[in-house]
Amino acid sequence: MAKGMKSSAVHRDELGAGTVLESIGAETAESAAELDPERAALQILRSFVGTSEGAAVAPSDVGGSHAEFKSVGIDKIPFTGNSVVKFRQYYYKVPVYGSLVTVELSGQNQFVSINTSVGEPANVDPVAKLSPAKALQVVAKWAGYERGVPGQPARLNFYFDAEHSRWRLVYIVEDVQRRKPSRSAQPAAPTGVPEFSDFVVDAHTGEKVAELPRTQTMAETSVEAQAADSLGRPRTFFVATDSSTNESRLFDALRNIHTHNFEFRDARLQFGSLPGKYVGNPPSPWDSGAVSAHANSTEVVDFLKTVLMRNGLDGMGGKIVSSVNCTWFGETFGREWRNAARLPNQMIYGQRLVDGELRSYAASLEVVAHELLHGLTDHTARLEYVFESGALNESYSDIFGIIVANRSEPDIGQWNWEIGEDLNATGIPLRDMSDPTRRNQPAHMNDYRELSEDEDHGGVHINSGIHNKAAHNIIVTKQDGQFLFNAVEVARVFYMTLTSQLSRTSGFLDSRRGALQSARSLFSNDANKDAKIAAVDAGFAAVGIVDAVA
Ligand SMILES: [Zn+2]
Repeated sequence: MAKGMKSSAVHRDELGAGTVLESIGAETAESAAELDPERAALQILRSFVGTSEGAAVAPSDVGGSHAEFKSVGIDKIPFTGNSVVKFRQYYYKVPVYGSLVTVELSGQNQFVSINTSVGEPANVDPVAKLSPAKALQVVAKWAGYERGVPGQPARLNFYFDAEHSRWRLVYIVEDVQRRKPSRSAQPAAPTGVPEFSDFVVDAHTGEKVAELPRTQTMAETSVEAQAADSLGRPRTFFVATDSSTNESRLFDALRNIHTHNFEFRDARLQFGSLPGKYVGNPPSPWDSGAVSAHANSTEVVDFLKTVLMRNGLDGMGGKIVSSVNCTWFGETFGREWRNAARLPNQMIYGQRLVDGELRSYAASLEVVAHELLHGLTDHTARLEYVFESGALNESYSDIFGIIVANRSEPDIGQWNWEIGEDLNATGIPLRDMSDPTRRNQPAHMNDYRELSEDEDHGGVHINSGIHNKAAHNIIVTKQDGQFLFNAVEVARVFYMTLTSQLSRTSGFLDSRRGALQSARSLFSNDANKDAKIAAVDAGFAAVGIVDAVA
Protein backbone atom coordinates (compact mmCIF):
# COMPACT_ATOMS: atom_id res chain seq x y z
CA MET A 1 0.00 0.00 0.00
CA ALA A 2 1.25 3.41 -0.84
CA LYS A 3 2.41 5.34 2.21
CA GLY A 4 -0.15 7.68 3.74
CA MET A 5 -3.03 6.07 1.85
CA LYS A 6 -5.72 3.62 2.89
CA SER A 7 -6.85 0.98 0.45
CA SER A 8 -9.58 -1.57 -0.14
CA ALA A 9 -10.70 -3.82 -2.99
CA VAL A 10 -13.94 -5.72 -3.62
CA HIS A 11 -14.79 -7.94 -6.58
CA ARG A 12 -18.27 -9.10 -7.54
CA ASP A 13 -17.18 -12.74 -7.72
CA GLU A 14 -15.94 -12.76 -4.13
CA LEU A 15 -19.22 -11.58 -2.66
CA GLY A 16 -21.98 -13.64 -1.11
CA ALA A 17 -25.64 -12.67 -1.31
CA GLY A 18 -26.77 -9.63 0.62
CA THR A 19 -23.45 -7.85 0.82
CA VAL A 20 -21.88 -4.92 -0.93
CA LEU A 21 -23.03 -5.99 -4.35
CA GLU A 22 -26.70 -5.72 -3.49
CA SER A 23 -26.44 -2.40 -1.76
CA ILE A 24 -24.48 -1.07 -4.71
CA GLY A 25 -26.65 -2.78 -7.28
CA ALA A 26 -29.91 -1.58 -5.74
CA GLU A 27 -29.17 2.03 -6.50
CA THR A 28 -27.70 1.58 -9.92
CA ALA A 29 -29.23 -1.44 -11.63
CA GLU A 30 -32.35 0.16 -13.09
CA SER A 31 -30.88 3.14 -14.79
CA ALA A 32 -27.23 2.16 -15.01
CA ALA A 33 -27.36 0.97 -18.60
CA GLU A 34 -28.60 4.39 -19.69
CA LEU A 35 -25.83 6.29 -17.94
CA ASP A 36 -22.42 6.95 -19.38
CA PRO A 37 -19.78 4.78 -17.68
CA GLU A 38 -18.31 7.69 -15.71
CA ARG A 39 -21.65 8.58 -14.13
CA ALA A 40 -22.42 4.93 -13.41
CA ALA A 41 -18.99 4.43 -11.86
CA LEU A 42 -19.39 7.53 -9.70
CA GLN A 43 -22.74 6.22 -8.42
CA ILE A 44 -21.08 2.93 -7.57
CA LEU A 45 -18.27 4.74 -5.78
CA ARG A 46 -20.76 6.79 -3.73
CA SER A 47 -22.78 3.68 -2.88
CA PHE A 48 -19.62 1.79 -1.95
CA VAL A 49 -18.56 4.46 0.51
CA GLY A 50 -21.94 4.00 2.23
CA THR A 51 -21.46 0.25 2.75
CA SER A 52 -19.69 -1.36 5.70
CA GLU A 53 -16.73 -2.40 3.52
CA GLY A 54 -16.53 1.00 1.93
CA ALA A 55 -16.95 3.00 5.14
CA ALA A 56 -13.62 1.73 6.43
CA VAL A 57 -11.82 3.40 3.57
CA ALA A 58 -14.16 6.32 2.99
CA PRO A 59 -12.13 9.51 3.16
CA SER A 60 -13.11 11.73 6.08
CA ASP A 61 -13.90 15.39 5.66
CA VAL A 62 -10.77 17.45 5.93
CA GLY A 63 -11.13 20.85 7.54
CA GLY A 64 -14.76 21.07 6.43
CA SER A 65 -14.19 19.97 2.84
CA HIS A 66 -15.77 16.78 1.52
CA ALA A 67 -13.65 14.51 -0.59
CA GLU A 68 -14.52 14.89 -4.24
CA PHE A 69 -13.71 12.48 -7.04
CA LYS A 70 -12.99 13.47 -10.61
CA SER A 71 -12.67 11.01 -13.46
CA VAL A 72 -9.24 10.77 -15.03
CA GLY A 73 -10.31 8.47 -17.85
CA ILE A 74 -12.00 5.29 -19.03
CA ASP A 75 -10.18 2.18 -20.26
CA LYS A 76 -11.82 -0.66 -22.11
CA ILE A 77 -10.35 -4.02 -21.02
CA PRO A 78 -9.74 -5.67 -24.37
CA PHE A 79 -10.16 -9.33 -23.44
CA THR A 80 -13.31 -9.11 -21.31
CA GLY A 81 -15.31 -6.19 -22.70
CA ASN A 82 -15.45 -4.57 -19.27
CA SER A 83 -14.70 -0.88 -18.71
CA VAL A 84 -12.50 0.63 -16.05
CA VAL A 85 -13.11 4.19 -14.83
CA LYS A 86 -10.37 5.80 -12.76
CA PHE A 87 -10.90 8.68 -10.34
CA ARG A 88 -8.59 11.07 -8.54
CA GLN A 89 -9.50 12.35 -5.07
CA TYR A 90 -9.72 16.11 -4.35
CA TYR A 91 -10.15 18.39 -1.35
CA TYR A 92 -10.78 22.11 -1.83
CA LYS A 93 -10.41 21.44 -5.59
CA VAL A 94 -6.82 20.33 -4.96
CA PRO A 95 -5.89 16.77 -6.03
CA VAL A 96 -4.48 14.27 -3.54
CA TYR A 97 -1.22 13.05 -5.05
CA GLY A 98 -1.22 9.28 -5.66
CA SER A 99 -4.92 8.82 -4.91
CA LEU A 100 -6.77 6.43 -7.20
CA VAL A 101 -10.17 4.79 -7.29
CA THR A 102 -10.70 2.18 -10.00
CA VAL A 103 -14.25 1.06 -10.76
CA GLU A 104 -14.74 -1.85 -13.17
CA LEU A 105 -18.07 -2.08 -14.98
CA SER A 106 -19.67 -4.66 -17.22
CA GLY A 107 -20.85 -3.66 -20.68
CA GLN A 108 -24.24 -2.79 -19.11
CA ASN A 109 -22.53 -0.57 -16.52
CA GLN A 110 -23.11 -3.13 -13.77
CA PHE A 111 -20.67 -3.33 -10.87
CA VAL A 112 -17.75 -5.75 -11.37
CA SER A 113 -15.10 -4.48 -8.97
CA ILE A 114 -13.81 -1.47 -7.08
CA ASN A 115 -10.33 -0.71 -5.81
CA THR A 116 -9.69 2.40 -3.73
CA SER A 117 -6.56 4.11 -2.47
CA VAL A 118 -7.32 7.45 -0.82
CA GLY A 119 -5.63 9.91 1.52
CA GLU A 120 -6.63 12.29 4.31
CA PRO A 121 -4.43 15.37 4.23
CA ALA A 122 -5.39 16.57 7.72
CA ASN A 123 -3.92 19.67 9.42
CA VAL A 124 -2.72 21.26 6.20
CA ASP A 125 -3.68 24.82 5.31
CA PRO A 126 -5.24 24.48 1.84
CA VAL A 127 -4.36 28.04 0.81
CA ALA A 128 -0.83 28.42 -0.56
CA LYS A 129 1.40 31.13 0.91
CA LEU A 130 3.85 30.82 -1.98
CA SER A 131 2.91 31.97 -5.48
CA PRO A 132 3.28 29.59 -8.44
CA ALA A 133 5.87 31.95 -9.93
CA LYS A 134 7.96 31.74 -6.77
CA ALA A 135 7.74 27.93 -6.83
CA LEU A 136 8.96 27.92 -10.43
CA GLN A 137 11.96 30.01 -9.40
CA VAL A 138 12.86 27.41 -6.76
CA VAL A 139 12.59 24.61 -9.33
CA ALA A 140 14.59 26.54 -11.93
CA LYS A 141 17.53 26.96 -9.58
CA TRP A 142 17.22 23.35 -8.38
CA ALA A 143 17.35 21.99 -11.94
CA GLY A 144 20.22 24.23 -13.02
CA TYR A 145 18.43 26.94 -15.01
CA GLU A 146 19.58 30.55 -14.72
CA ARG A 147 16.13 31.93 -15.33
CA GLY A 148 12.69 30.29 -15.27
CA VAL A 149 11.86 26.76 -16.31
CA PRO A 150 10.53 27.03 -19.86
CA GLY A 151 6.85 26.37 -20.26
CA GLN A 152 6.10 24.18 -17.22
CA PRO A 153 3.18 25.08 -14.92
CA ALA A 154 3.36 24.65 -11.14
CA ARG A 155 0.31 22.71 -9.90
CA LEU A 156 -0.99 22.49 -6.34
CA ASN A 157 -1.34 19.03 -4.77
CA PHE A 158 -1.76 17.49 -1.37
CA TYR A 159 1.34 15.35 -1.07
CA PHE A 160 2.32 12.78 1.56
CA ASP A 161 5.94 13.45 2.54
CA ALA A 162 6.94 9.89 3.45
CA GLU A 163 10.30 10.95 4.84
CA HIS A 164 8.65 13.11 7.48
CA SER A 165 5.40 11.12 7.67
CA ARG A 166 3.17 14.11 7.10
CA TRP A 167 0.93 15.69 4.54
CA ARG A 168 1.95 18.91 2.82
CA LEU A 169 0.44 21.32 0.34
CA VAL A 170 2.95 21.44 -2.51
CA TYR A 171 3.54 22.69 -6.02
CA ILE A 172 4.56 19.99 -8.48
CA VAL A 173 6.36 20.89 -11.69
CA GLU A 174 6.43 17.91 -14.02
CA ASP A 175 8.88 16.62 -16.63
CA VAL A 176 11.59 19.20 -16.13
CA GLN A 177 14.79 18.44 -17.99
CA ARG A 178 17.80 18.90 -15.74
CA ARG A 179 20.48 21.33 -16.87
CA LYS A 180 22.98 19.93 -14.39
CA PRO A 181 23.18 16.27 -13.34
CA SER A 182 21.39 15.20 -10.19
CA ARG A 183 23.51 13.74 -7.40
CA SER A 184 21.93 10.35 -7.97
CA ALA A 185 23.01 10.17 -11.62
CA GLN A 186 25.75 7.60 -12.07
CA PRO A 187 29.03 8.97 -13.33
CA ALA A 188 28.99 6.18 -15.90
CA ALA A 189 25.66 7.37 -17.32
CA PRO A 190 26.14 7.90 -21.02
CA THR A 191 26.39 11.49 -22.07
CA GLY A 192 23.55 12.89 -24.10
CA VAL A 193 20.82 11.04 -22.16
CA PRO A 194 18.63 13.78 -20.75
CA GLU A 195 17.41 13.43 -17.17
CA PHE A 196 13.80 14.39 -16.51
CA SER A 197 12.25 14.87 -13.09
CA ASP A 198 9.09 16.03 -11.38
CA PHE A 199 10.00 18.60 -8.73
CA VAL A 200 7.99 19.00 -5.50
CA VAL A 201 8.14 22.31 -3.60
CA ASP A 202 6.30 23.11 -0.33
CA ALA A 203 3.60 25.66 -1.15
CA HIS A 204 3.89 27.38 2.24
CA THR A 205 7.63 27.48 2.89
CA GLY A 206 9.26 27.02 -0.52
CA GLU A 207 11.19 24.01 0.84
CA LYS A 208 12.44 21.44 -1.65
CA VAL A 209 10.37 18.37 -0.75
CA ALA A 210 11.27 15.78 -3.39
CA GLU A 211 12.67 15.19 -6.84
CA LEU A 212 10.87 12.33 -8.58
CA PRO A 213 12.84 10.94 -11.53
CA ARG A 214 10.93 10.19 -14.73
CA THR A 215 11.54 7.61 -17.40
CA GLN A 216 13.94 8.97 -19.94
CA THR A 217 11.99 10.02 -22.97
CA MET A 218 14.02 10.48 -26.09
CA ALA A 219 11.40 9.64 -28.69
CA GLU A 220 12.18 12.78 -30.62
CA THR A 221 15.74 11.62 -31.20
CA SER A 222 14.89 7.98 -31.96
CA VAL A 223 15.74 7.11 -35.52
CA GLU A 224 15.16 4.02 -37.59
CA ALA A 225 18.23 2.01 -38.61
CA GLN A 226 18.85 -1.04 -40.76
CA ALA A 227 21.63 -3.61 -40.53
CA ALA A 228 22.30 -7.33 -40.90
CA ASP A 229 21.70 -9.62 -37.92
CA SER A 230 23.60 -12.76 -36.85
CA LEU A 231 21.91 -14.81 -39.55
CA GLY A 232 22.77 -12.25 -42.23
CA ARG A 233 19.17 -11.08 -42.55
CA PRO A 234 18.38 -7.37 -42.90
CA ARG A 235 16.64 -6.04 -39.78
CA THR A 236 14.98 -2.74 -38.91
CA PHE A 237 15.35 -1.33 -35.40
CA PHE A 238 15.47 1.96 -33.51
CA VAL A 239 18.50 3.77 -32.15
CA ALA A 240 19.27 7.01 -30.33
CA THR A 241 21.38 9.47 -32.26
CA ASP A 242 23.25 12.41 -30.79
CA SER A 243 22.54 15.13 -33.30
CA SER A 244 25.71 17.07 -32.46
CA THR A 245 28.16 14.19 -33.05
CA ASN A 246 26.03 11.93 -35.27
CA GLU A 247 26.94 8.99 -33.04
CA SER A 248 24.23 6.37 -32.57
CA ARG A 249 23.72 3.67 -29.98
CA LEU A 250 21.32 0.77 -29.51
CA PHE A 251 18.75 2.49 -27.34
CA ASP A 252 15.09 2.41 -28.41
CA ALA A 253 13.46 5.09 -26.26
CA LEU A 254 9.89 4.25 -27.27
CA ARG A 255 10.17 0.59 -26.26
CA ASN A 256 12.79 1.20 -23.54
CA ILE A 257 15.16 -1.38 -25.08
CA HIS A 258 18.88 -1.04 -24.29
CA THR A 259 21.53 -3.24 -25.91
CA HIS A 260 25.12 -3.41 -24.67
CA ASN A 261 28.41 -5.08 -25.61
CA PHE A 262 30.22 -6.98 -22.85
CA GLU A 263 33.24 -7.55 -25.12
CA PHE A 264 33.70 -11.23 -24.17
CA ARG A 265 34.22 -10.44 -20.52
CA ASP A 266 33.02 -12.94 -17.93
CA ALA A 267 29.51 -12.07 -16.74
CA ARG A 268 29.94 -14.30 -13.70
CA LEU A 269 33.29 -12.96 -12.50
CA GLN A 270 32.71 -9.37 -13.61
CA PHE A 271 29.04 -9.20 -12.70
CA GLY A 272 29.47 -5.68 -11.34
CA SER A 273 30.58 -4.41 -14.75
CA LEU A 274 27.36 -5.46 -16.48
CA PRO A 275 25.74 -4.41 -18.75
CA GLY A 276 28.86 -2.86 -20.36
CA LYS A 277 28.93 -0.06 -22.90
CA TYR A 278 26.08 0.65 -25.25
CA VAL A 279 26.60 -0.86 -28.67
CA GLY A 280 27.51 2.14 -30.81
CA ASN A 281 27.95 3.17 -34.41
CA PRO A 282 30.47 4.34 -35.52
CA PRO A 283 32.33 2.09 -35.93
CA SER A 284 30.25 0.77 -38.79
CA PRO A 285 28.71 -1.73 -39.36
CA TRP A 286 26.58 -2.52 -36.34
CA ASP A 287 27.64 -5.65 -34.40
CA SER A 288 25.44 -8.37 -35.93
CA GLY A 289 24.79 -10.17 -32.63
CA ALA A 290 23.75 -6.90 -31.04
CA VAL A 291 21.42 -6.23 -33.98
CA SER A 292 19.82 -9.64 -33.34
CA ALA A 293 19.34 -8.93 -29.63
CA HIS A 294 17.96 -5.44 -30.26
CA ALA A 295 15.68 -6.30 -33.19
CA ASN A 296 14.39 -9.51 -31.55
CA SER A 297 13.65 -7.65 -28.31
CA THR A 298 11.74 -5.14 -30.41
CA GLU A 299 9.61 -7.94 -31.88
CA VAL A 300 8.81 -9.29 -28.42
CA VAL A 301 7.83 -5.87 -27.06
CA ASP A 302 5.64 -5.22 -30.11
CA PHE A 303 4.01 -8.64 -29.69
CA LEU A 304 3.22 -7.89 -26.04
CA LYS A 305 1.75 -4.56 -27.02
CA THR A 306 -0.33 -5.52 -30.04
CA VAL A 307 -1.41 -9.07 -29.13
CA LEU A 308 -1.50 -8.99 -25.33
CA MET A 309 -1.99 -5.23 -24.86
CA ARG A 310 0.77 -5.22 -22.31
CA ASN A 311 3.32 -2.44 -21.89
CA GLY A 312 6.64 -4.30 -21.68
CA LEU A 313 7.61 -7.20 -19.46
CA ASP A 314 6.58 -5.52 -16.22
CA GLY A 315 3.41 -4.00 -17.70
CA MET A 316 4.80 -0.53 -16.98
CA GLY A 317 7.19 -0.06 -19.86
CA GLY A 318 10.24 -0.89 -17.73
CA LYS A 319 13.74 -1.20 -19.17
CA ILE A 320 14.72 -4.20 -21.26
CA VAL A 321 18.50 -4.50 -21.07
CA SER A 322 20.65 -6.98 -23.00
CA SER A 323 24.38 -7.61 -23.18
CA VAL A 324 25.82 -9.53 -26.12
CA ASN A 325 29.31 -11.06 -26.34
CA CYS A 326 29.21 -12.50 -22.81
CA THR A 327 31.18 -15.42 -21.40
CA TRP A 328 30.62 -17.37 -18.18
CA PHE A 329 33.25 -18.82 -15.87
CA GLY A 330 33.46 -22.60 -16.08
CA GLU A 331 31.40 -22.86 -19.27
CA THR A 332 33.55 -20.90 -21.69
CA PHE A 333 35.88 -22.33 -24.31
CA GLY A 334 37.88 -19.66 -26.08
CA ARG A 335 35.25 -17.07 -26.85
CA GLU A 336 32.46 -19.62 -26.98
CA TRP A 337 29.82 -19.63 -24.28
CA ARG A 338 26.95 -21.72 -25.59
CA ASN A 339 24.12 -20.25 -23.62
CA ALA A 340 21.88 -17.30 -22.88
CA ALA A 341 20.41 -16.34 -19.54
CA ARG A 342 18.17 -13.94 -17.77
CA LEU A 343 19.70 -12.20 -14.76
CA PRO A 344 17.49 -10.19 -12.39
CA ASN A 345 17.86 -6.95 -14.34
CA GLN A 346 18.94 -7.97 -17.80
CA MET A 347 19.62 -10.60 -20.46
CA ILE A 348 23.06 -11.97 -21.25
CA TYR A 349 23.86 -13.75 -24.51
CA GLY A 350 26.76 -16.05 -25.31
CA GLN A 351 27.87 -17.28 -28.71
CA ARG A 352 29.17 -20.32 -30.49
CA LEU A 353 31.22 -21.07 -33.54
CA VAL A 354 29.18 -21.88 -36.63
CA ASP A 355 31.21 -22.45 -39.79
CA GLY A 356 34.21 -20.81 -38.14
CA GLU A 357 32.39 -17.65 -37.08
CA LEU A 358 30.92 -16.69 -33.74
CA ARG A 359 27.13 -16.59 -33.81
CA SER A 360 25.25 -14.89 -30.97
CA TYR A 361 22.57 -16.80 -29.06
CA ALA A 362 20.47 -13.68 -29.65
CA ALA A 363 20.24 -14.82 -33.29
CA SER A 364 17.20 -16.92 -32.50
CA LEU A 365 13.93 -15.03 -32.06
CA GLU A 366 12.31 -17.86 -30.09
CA VAL A 367 15.30 -18.00 -27.73
CA VAL A 368 15.15 -14.23 -27.12
CA ALA A 369 11.38 -14.40 -26.64
CA HIS A 370 11.80 -17.39 -24.30
CA GLU A 371 14.30 -15.55 -22.11
CA LEU A 372 12.33 -12.30 -22.05
CA LEU A 373 9.15 -14.17 -21.15
CA HIS A 374 10.88 -15.42 -18.01
CA GLY A 375 10.89 -11.74 -17.09
CA LEU A 376 7.14 -11.48 -17.64
CA THR A 377 6.63 -14.59 -15.50
CA ASP A 378 8.77 -13.03 -12.76
CA HIS A 379 6.43 -10.05 -12.74
CA THR A 380 3.24 -12.14 -12.66
CA ALA A 381 2.92 -15.79 -11.58
CA ARG A 382 6.53 -15.94 -10.29
CA LEU A 383 6.53 -19.70 -10.77
CA GLU A 384 9.30 -21.21 -8.63
CA TYR A 385 12.14 -22.39 -10.83
CA VAL A 386 12.31 -25.92 -9.48
CA PHE A 387 10.50 -29.25 -10.05
CA GLU A 388 7.05 -29.09 -11.66
CA SER A 389 6.47 -25.35 -11.18
CA GLY A 390 9.89 -24.80 -12.76
CA ALA A 391 9.00 -27.03 -15.70
CA LEU A 392 5.80 -25.01 -16.07
CA ASN A 393 7.86 -21.79 -16.00
CA GLU A 394 10.09 -23.21 -18.75
CA SER A 395 7.11 -24.36 -20.78
CA TYR A 396 5.39 -20.97 -20.72
CA SER A 397 8.59 -19.41 -22.04
CA ASP A 398 8.76 -22.02 -24.80
CA ILE A 399 5.08 -21.55 -25.70
CA PHE A 400 5.44 -17.79 -26.11
CA GLY A 401 8.81 -18.20 -27.80
CA ILE A 402 7.17 -20.35 -30.47
CA ILE A 403 4.10 -18.13 -30.83
CA VAL A 404 6.26 -14.99 -31.23
CA ALA A 405 8.64 -16.66 -33.68
CA ASN A 406 5.73 -17.87 -35.86
CA ARG A 407 3.80 -14.65 -35.55
CA SER A 408 4.08 -13.69 -39.21
CA GLU A 409 2.87 -17.14 -40.39
CA PRO A 410 -0.95 -17.16 -40.36
CA ASP A 411 -1.14 -20.84 -41.36
CA ILE A 412 -0.53 -22.83 -38.17
CA GLY A 413 0.12 -25.85 -40.38
CA GLN A 414 3.34 -24.13 -41.49
CA TRP A 415 4.61 -23.29 -37.99
CA ASN A 416 8.13 -24.17 -36.93
CA TRP A 417 8.02 -25.86 -33.51
CA GLU A 418 11.78 -26.12 -33.03
CA ILE A 419 13.57 -24.03 -30.44
CA GLY A 420 17.12 -22.88 -31.09
CA GLU A 421 17.83 -24.74 -34.31
CA ASP A 422 19.67 -21.67 -35.64
CA LEU A 423 22.27 -22.02 -32.90
CA ASN A 424 23.86 -25.13 -34.29
CA ALA A 425 25.59 -25.70 -37.61
CA THR A 426 23.82 -29.05 -37.81
CA GLY A 427 20.39 -27.46 -37.36
CA ILE A 428 19.56 -29.72 -34.41
CA PRO A 429 17.22 -27.79 -32.08
CA LEU A 430 17.43 -27.57 -28.31
CA ARG A 431 13.80 -28.67 -28.03
CA ASP A 432 10.89 -29.51 -30.32
CA MET A 433 7.42 -28.70 -29.00
CA SER A 434 5.67 -30.88 -31.56
CA ASP A 435 7.77 -33.92 -30.60
CA PRO A 436 9.53 -33.48 -27.25
CA THR A 437 10.89 -37.04 -27.34
CA ARG A 438 13.07 -36.04 -30.29
CA ARG A 439 15.30 -34.18 -27.83
CA ASN A 440 14.91 -36.68 -24.99
CA GLN A 441 12.06 -34.92 -23.22
CA PRO A 442 9.02 -36.79 -21.93
CA ALA A 443 5.74 -36.07 -23.75
CA HIS A 444 3.33 -37.72 -21.30
CA MET A 445 2.87 -37.80 -17.53
CA ASN A 446 3.56 -41.54 -17.62
CA ASP A 447 7.16 -40.60 -18.45
CA TYR A 448 7.50 -37.73 -15.95
CA ARG A 449 11.00 -37.86 -14.53
CA GLU A 450 11.42 -37.46 -10.79
CA LEU A 451 14.84 -35.84 -10.50
CA SER A 452 16.71 -34.33 -7.58
CA GLU A 453 17.08 -30.59 -7.26
CA ASP A 454 20.69 -30.67 -8.44
CA GLU A 455 19.69 -32.29 -11.72
CA ASP A 456 18.45 -29.39 -13.86
CA HIS A 457 16.54 -27.94 -10.86
CA GLY A 458 14.50 -31.11 -10.72
CA GLY A 459 14.15 -31.43 -14.50
CA VAL A 460 12.78 -28.02 -15.44
CA HIS A 461 14.11 -28.31 -19.01
CA ILE A 462 13.09 -31.98 -19.17
CA ASN A 463 9.54 -32.29 -17.85
CA SER A 464 8.60 -29.05 -19.61
CA GLY A 465 8.19 -31.31 -22.66
CA ILE A 466 4.94 -32.68 -21.22
CA HIS A 467 3.30 -29.27 -20.85
CA ASN A 468 4.78 -28.13 -24.17
CA LYS A 469 3.11 -31.08 -25.86
CA ALA A 470 -0.22 -30.19 -24.24
CA ALA A 471 0.10 -26.65 -25.61
CA HIS A 472 1.01 -28.01 -29.04
CA ASN A 473 -2.06 -30.27 -28.97
CA ILE A 474 -4.30 -27.29 -28.22
CA ILE A 475 -2.78 -24.97 -30.81
CA VAL A 476 -3.07 -27.50 -33.67
CA THR A 477 -6.61 -28.65 -32.82
CA LYS A 478 -8.73 -28.87 -35.97
CA GLN A 479 -12.47 -28.79 -36.50
CA ASP A 480 -13.91 -29.77 -39.86
CA GLY A 481 -10.42 -29.67 -41.32
CA GLN A 482 -9.75 -26.10 -40.14
CA PHE A 483 -7.58 -24.96 -37.26
CA LEU A 484 -9.89 -24.12 -34.37
CA PHE A 485 -7.77 -21.31 -32.91
CA ASN A 486 -5.69 -18.51 -34.36
CA ALA A 487 -2.36 -17.41 -32.89
CA VAL A 488 -3.84 -14.43 -31.05
CA GLU A 489 -6.44 -16.57 -29.30
CA VAL A 490 -3.99 -19.17 -28.05
CA ALA A 491 -1.56 -16.46 -26.98
CA ARG A 492 -4.32 -14.82 -24.93
CA VAL A 493 -5.50 -18.05 -23.30
CA PHE A 494 -1.97 -18.84 -22.11
CA TYR A 495 -1.30 -15.21 -21.20
CA MET A 496 -4.46 -14.90 -19.09
CA THR A 497 -3.59 -18.18 -17.40
CA LEU A 498 -0.01 -17.20 -16.63
CA THR A 499 -0.82 -13.72 -15.41
CA SER A 500 -4.11 -14.35 -13.55
CA GLN A 501 -4.45 -18.00 -12.64
CA LEU A 502 -1.03 -19.27 -11.58
CA SER A 503 1.00 -18.78 -8.42
CA ARG A 504 4.57 -19.51 -7.37
CA THR A 505 3.86 -23.14 -6.61
CA SER A 506 1.45 -24.03 -9.43
CA GLY A 507 1.87 -27.27 -11.36
CA PHE A 508 0.63 -28.71 -14.64
CA LEU A 509 -2.83 -29.46 -13.27
CA ASP A 510 -3.20 -25.87 -12.05
CA SER A 511 -2.29 -24.76 -15.54
CA ARG A 512 -5.02 -26.97 -17.01
CA ARG A 513 -7.62 -25.61 -14.58
CA GLY A 514 -6.43 -22.04 -15.13
CA ALA A 515 -6.44 -22.39 -18.90
CA LEU A 516 -10.02 -23.64 -18.74
CA GLN A 517 -11.03 -20.62 -16.63
CA SER A 518 -9.29 -18.32 -19.09
CA ALA A 519 -10.89 -19.97 -22.09
CA ARG A 520 -14.35 -19.64 -20.53
CA SER A 521 -13.89 -15.89 -20.06
CA LEU A 522 -12.14 -15.25 -23.35
CA PHE A 523 -14.55 -17.24 -25.52
CA SER A 524 -17.73 -16.47 -23.58
CA ASN A 525 -19.30 -14.83 -26.64
CA ASP A 526 -17.61 -17.02 -29.24
CA ALA A 527 -19.80 -19.11 -31.55
CA ASN A 528 -17.29 -21.94 -31.12
CA LYS A 529 -17.08 -21.54 -27.36
CA ASP A 530 -17.83 -25.15 -26.42
CA ALA A 531 -15.44 -26.60 -28.98
CA LYS A 532 -12.65 -24.29 -27.87
CA ILE A 533 -13.08 -25.06 -24.18
CA ALA A 534 -13.20 -28.77 -24.99
CA ALA A 535 -10.03 -28.47 -27.08
CA VAL A 536 -8.13 -26.89 -24.18
CA ASP A 537 -9.30 -29.67 -21.89
CA ALA A 538 -8.45 -32.40 -24.40
CA GLY A 539 -4.98 -30.99 -25.07
CA PHE A 540 -4.02 -31.47 -21.43
CA ALA A 541 -5.82 -34.79 -21.07
CA ALA A 542 -3.94 -36.27 -24.03
CA VAL A 543 -0.62 -35.93 -22.20
CA GLY A 544 -2.02 -37.33 -18.96
CA ILE A 545 -2.39 -34.02 -17.09
CA VAL A 546 -5.51 -35.25 -15.30
CA ASP A 547 -6.77 -35.41 -11.73
CA ALA A 548 -5.42 -38.39 -9.84
CA VAL A 549 -7.87 -41.27 -9.93
CA ALA A 550 -9.56 -41.55 -6.56
ZN1 LIG B 1 14.27 -20.91 -19.83
